[in-house]
Amino acid sequence: MKCPFCSSDNTRVIDSRPADDNTAIRRRRLCDDCKKRFTTYEKVETIPLIVIKKDNNREQYDRTKLEAGILRACHKRPVSAEQIKSLVDQVEVEIFSGESQEIKSAEIGEYVMDKIKDLDPVAYVRFASVYREFKDLNTFMNELKKVIS
Ligand SMILES: [Zn+2]
Repeated sequence: MKCPFCSSDNTRVIDSRPADDNTAIRRRRLCDDCKKRFTTYEKVETIPLIVIKKDNNREQYDRTKLEAGILRACHKRPVSAEQIKSLVDQVEVEIFSGESQEIKSAEIGEYVMDKIKDLDPVAYVRFASVYREFKDLNTFMNELKKVIS
């Protein structure tokens, strides 16, 4: 992002927060050359974000894919479509707040797990089992104990 005062590319994000009902990110930026601060608003859907998958392949971030994964985890659980939408919104604020234009799929998974935990314990364990690829029953049980204790 170029500095609007001196056109330097040497700027960094000092604060990110959701704006406009979570559809945009408001960023405070600081120019390291002229030390001036400025604010940008970026619509979430216009921010380019590349997801790095486990096999190191990269693909464009796709909200519907994330939603589908969460939906699967919530199958037959008392979680409403509205709650899922709100969860995806919250996760998007986190992943789009970063300065980097690339994010590991595992990192997105961690954000989801962090929030789905409060929504429904079964959905959490299902999601975690897919994301963390539990290799055996013990890992699975340990994770389960964490949420029900
Ligand atoms: Zn500047």
